[in-house]
Amino acid sequence: MKFTSIYIHIPFCRRKCNYCDFVSFPVADQQQYFTIYGDLLLKELSLWQQQGSDFSQLQSLYFGGGTPSLLAIESIKALLSCLHQTSEITLEANPETVDFDFLQQLHDAGVNRLSLGAQSFNDQALQVMGRCHTAAQTINAFNEARRAGFTNINLDLIYGWPMQDRAQMQADLAVALALDPEHLSLYGLSLSDQSPWGKRMLSGDLEIADSDLSADMQEDAMKILEAAGLHQYEIANYAKAGFASLHNCSYWQRQNYLGIGCAAASCLLEKRWSNLKNLADYASSVEQGKLPVCEQETLSFDEIIAEAIFLGLRLRQGIDLDQFAELYGLRAEKRFAKQLRQLTEDGLLIVEDGSMRLSKKGLLLGNEVFYKFI
Ligand code: SF4
Repeated sequence: MKFTSIYIHIPFCRRKCNYCDFVSFPVADQQQYFTIYGDLLLKELSLWQQQGSDFSQLQSLYFGGGTPSLLAIESIKALLSCLHQTSEITLEANPETVDFDFLQQLHDAGVNRLSLGAQSFNDQALQVMGRCHTAAQTINAFNEARRAGFTNINLDLIYGWPMQDRAQMQADLAVALALDPEHLSLYGLSLSDQSPWGKRMLSGDLEIADSDLSADMQEDAMKILEAAGLHQYEIANYAKAGFASLHNCSYWQRQNYLGIGCAAASCLLEKRWSNLKNLADYASSVEQGKLPVCEQETLSFDEIIAEAIFLGLRLRQGIDLDQFAELYGLRAEKRFAKQLRQLTEDGLLIVEDGSMRLSKKGLLLGNEVFYKFI
């Protein structure tokens, strides 16, 4: 079992944001698990090693959440010391949880990429989202991270929040660009029925940007960010040259990754699984020396092909058709000839020079394209 990347899920937050449906729990409600969580992660890692997992060729390690910056620095250091050297080690941080001392220790421990959850630089928006920080705290955290030595920083932004117009989205981008980040992730707000905002939207009590406004905002962002030297290398991700996230690219290229921690997801060749989503169940399984795995599925060859296509098409460079044939033993342009013809006629897909990729219009309407391959 050779993995190229590891994702470590930290399912704790100060409190729950109104749009969030990630597996995360307010620390105050889960104090007993929060205090032992670092040890549980170490135990789970060692269980995978006992099962023959090979981490000798890891390219990336990613602490995601939740709010990984709530984890004690000692736990982060202990996990890093168990893993081989990797090229990219990212930690997601919420601005209100970090100070210079923590950031410096993080950097000294080997974390070389920081991902700050800014979401917006509009204080009113942050407040209605239920975020625990202000725009000034994000700017301060960013500057302190630079002072601590981070030369690869991502800012996460959300667009399409209630009442946001195009000018407000552009204002958010202007503040982000003034900080000069190496990487920017820009996600359109999408709400599951289970989130507080999702419930309000279902009952007609809340409106978010409709698909036309979202597409306009995305188009504005593509122009503004490209002009500022941040290349859109994936539908929602922009980076300076040489700063595309190795970890995220491993997902889109369907490489093998192992998820550690409560609710973490993994992929190994044709197998996919996720860890137990309940903290007590997760803790009890690991403490008993059992892998905390549930929801395993084995994909059919057709499912793997479809997945490889719609994940690969998320990348701006698209899919190299010769490489695809080598990896999967079939020509995608023959297998999906009908879909390709229709999508190119509709101006959503470009097939040329041995590759297929989304057009500008396709980047705005990605889901319409992906649906054709499922
Ligand atoms: S900080 Fe992130 S993971 Fe935590 S509740 Fe907010 S959006 Fe969800």
